[in-house]
This record gives sequence, C-alpha cells and structure tokens, in this order.
Amino acid sequence: MSTLYKHHQIHLFNSLSRKKELLTPISEGYVGMYVCGPTVYSKVHLGNCRTFMSFDMIYRYLLHLGYKVRYVRNITDAGHLEHDEDEGEDKIAKKARLERIEPMEVVQKYTVDFHQTLEKFNVLSPSIEPTATGHIIEQIEIIEKILKKGYAYIQNGSVYFDVLKFNKEHDYGKLSGRKLEDMIPNTRGLQGHLEKKNPQDFALWKKAEPQHIMRWTSPWGDGFPGWHIECTAMSTKYLGPNFDIHGGGMDLKFPHHECEIAQAEAHSGSSPVNYWLHANMLTLNGKKMSKSTDNNVYPHEIFSGENSIFSRAFSPSVVRFFMMQAHYTSILDLSQDALEAAEKGYQRLMESIHAVSALKGNGNTSNFDLGAWVDRCYAAMNDDFNTPVLIAQLFEAVKQVNLLKEGQTNLTDTDVQLLSQTLKTFTFEVLGLRDESKIDTSHFEKLSSVIELLIEQRNKARERRDFSTSDQIRDQLLDLGIQLKDSKDGTTFSIS
Ligand code: AMP
Ligand code: ZN
Repeated sequence: MSTLYKHHQIHLFNSLSRKKELLTPISEGYVGMYVCGPTVYSKVHLGNCRTFMSFDMIYRYLLHLGYKVRYVRNITDAGHLEHDEDEGEDKIAKKARLERIEPMEVVQKYTVDFHQTLEKFNVLSPSIEPTATGHIIEQIEIIEKILKKGYAYIQNGSVYFDVLKFNKEHDYGKLSGRKLEDMIPNTRGLQGHLEKKNPQDFALWKKAEPQHIMRWTSPWGDGFPGWHIECTAMSTKYLGPNFDIHGGGMDLKFPHHECEIAQAEAHSGSSPVNYWLHANMLTLNGKKMSKSTDNNVYPHEIFSGENSIFSRAFSPSVVRFFMMQAHYTSILDLSQDALEAAEKGYQRLMESIHAVSALKGNGNTSNFDLGAWVDRCYAAMNDDFNTPVLIAQLFEAVKQVNLLKEGQTNLTDTDVQLLSQTLKTFTFEVLGLRDESKIDTSHFEKLSSVIELLIEQRNKARERRDFSTSDQIRDQLLDLGIQLKDSKDGTTFSIS
C-alpha cells in the first residue's frame, strides 16, 4: 500500500483565501472531495468534460500518492431551473415536455450519455454519485434547520434564504468577492421577485404550481428543492459537516457555491469546506463554451470528425492531452491548430514510451540525473497540480530516450527502467492518457487467444470422437460471427 503522500506536500490554490495553501487533510491519509456534477437535461459538451477531466486528474494524483479518497460527484436531476434562476421551468421537465417523455427518461438518457462520454476520456468513476431526487428528505431536513435558526422564511409555500440577515453575522460573498449590492440578478421572474424580502435572497424550496410535474410533499406543501440545497445536502451527508475539497467549474462560484457556503454555515454554524477548487473554462472562438449560446462542440463530433469546426477527427486521448497541457485554473481555447499540436505531442510521448520499453542501459554511470528528474515531476504536481510543467518534464525524458537510441548518452539499466516506469506512471496513471495504439490490438490479441483455446478444446473433443461437443463449439462461435475453417494444416478462423 502506497503512503507516498507522507513524502509530498501538495500546495493548492484555494479560491476562498485566493492563495496557494498546503493541503492538510482533516484525517491523515484520507481526503474527502465533492465536485458538482452535470444537470442531466442534455448531452455534455467538451467544456463540461474539461471540468470533469480536471478533477479526474486531481483525484488520480491523490490516489497515486496513496490517499484514500472519497470522491462524491452528484447528478442534478431536479431543481435546476432555466437560466439558473429561481423562476421558470425546470431544465429537465422542459426537455421532457419538448420530447414528450417522462422527466426520468430524460435523466436516464443523459446520465448514460454523461457516463459513456467520460469513459471515452478515461475519467474514473467517483466513489459515490448521488442524485438530487434521491436526497429530497435530506434537503428538507436542512431547510427545516435553516428555518429554525432564523436564516430563512416561508412565503406562499416557498422557502427563501434570508441573505441580508445571514450577512449580518456571516460574510455572504466571501468566495466570489462580490458585494451584496452587486448581487441583484438582472433577469428575474416577477412573482419570485415579489415573494422575496430582498432580491438577493435565493430559493431553498419552491412551491410547485399545478403544471409543475417534478414535485414532492414537504412541510410547506407540494414543491421542489432549490438548485443549491442539493449540493449542501449530499456533500455533508457523505463527507461530514466539514470536509477537505469542494470543486466545480469557475462559473459555479457565484451564486451556486456562495449559496452552498451560506446554507451550510447557517445550519451547522461552521464553514463546510477547507479548500475550494475551481476549474477554468474551455472557450471556443474566444468565448465560453456553453449550451445556451450554442457555442459548443460535442465530444462525439470531435471523435468522428463530423462537425463544422475542425477539418478532421481527433481521438479522445489527443483531446485529453490537449486539456492536460493547460493548467486547470487557466482558460483554454479550443482550435484545430491546438489539437494538431496536441496530437503531435501525444504521439511523440507514446513513441518514446514504446521505445524505452525495448531499450537497455548502455553504461555504468548515467549522464542524466534521474532522481532529480523524478523529483521535478512530483514537484510539478505538488505545485497545484501543474500538468503543463509535468508534461514539459515528461518531454525532458523523451529527449533522453532519443539520445539513448542514438547512443549519444549513457544511462544505466536501472535508470532506463526507472525512466520507463516513471514516464508510464505519470502518463497513464496520473494524466489518465490511454495508449490508443494498444486498445484495439490488445483486445484483438486477447480475443484471438480465447478462440485458439476453443479450437484446442474442439480438437480434443474430435480426438475423443465427441462430435456433439466439437460441433457445438463450431456452431456457437459461428453464431457470434466467428467462422472456423478446417484444412489439412489445422484450423484457422475469421471474424465477420
Ligand atoms: P452544468 O451541467 O451546466 O451544471 O455544468 C456541469 C459542469 O461543467 C459545471 O461544473 C460547469 O462549471 C462546467 N462547465 C460548463 N461550461 C464549461 C466550460 N465552457 N468549460 C469548462 N467547464 C464548464
Ligand atoms: Zn453543486
């Protein structure tokens, strides 16, 4: 069991303090991390995927260091209204209405799409993936506590958080750095506006109008939870009232995360999260990739090449490499040139990894200080998960592999092995890239071996004159599209 974390100090940029801070988990060796997941009313675009890849890289590095990580990433399947407002139609209910299907069919469809898309990018599953609709009771309980503490009020079957009251004893705006007077949203439904004591207040629970189909019973009548309360309920349920890391895209800082802090502080009295991490946006044509403005591209369109932006297809690992070449807190712009450059970089890295596996050392002493290089790789990741610096270091190793191939440097056998191992660990385990040249061939090789095994069993059956078994093997393989061909030289097969 790895306890590498004992030898590494991670400094991460905490959006709350606006400083890099040393990561000191609440319990040594354990990290609790919550990341806001998708609202499953449509396919995820590449921008959404960037955020999930960023936190996947962070999760992977923590695991690599030997931390036991409980990674909670939710699915928002209720309560998220159009334009992220407190008025309007539920995003999922609206889609269900337009497609004439059940809201839960919408949820199922796009949850599956989300999982399949992230799998293409080799994003690991979280430890828990809770849904908002599965935690209505927990949300109601927290709202009741907030009401009891006097930080919320009931108005016509809805419950609103009293921001001004909260701000008297707490600091509403400390995460986003906004002042209360700047927080009046510009587009507001009239009804919610009138119901609220102050425009800055936000909904904890909304009364369901008769036409609203996603509804639950509550102490305040039939309704549905506000958008922010689900994350407070699910993060604290699985990670406790105070946990280590909370992440999400930069665009969630306000109002979503600001409201999460207020809700948690109002009901438990203490700050819920020690380190707030925000992943920056993917842009296209210099503008945020977004569903609502139609400025977006879907992963499957990039993999197939069927889109109006790029002249050809790019593979998932090339796209992931492109993402990892930028620091997760930097804005990143997607373009054909950038993807082509990433493809070249990815291919060079893979070629080097293949080459070094076959190379042997050529000296008793090394010209390259391998130990210092490994330290630099870790130092890059320990410095707020600096993947661009890590990748630059990986290319230092690529240079060494090329020099070794040409006989222009000396490396010991042990150093070649260490170089190969470290290169693979950071590339595959930490950055989460796949060796795409292997995916098909290794599957094919495995399948071939299994078929050979069955051919052998069939030959044995024939030797025993057990023709029913031998015919069964042949016929069942044929049903799977695998045809056996007998000749005097033995049996071969073809796959249709
Ligand atoms: P949503 O389903 O809209 O709640 O978004 C899911 C996640 O994707 C959130 O963490 C957003 O912050 C993130 N996100 C949305 N647009 C982008 C973008 N253009 N670049 C990076 N992350 C994004
Ligand atoms: Zn959230």
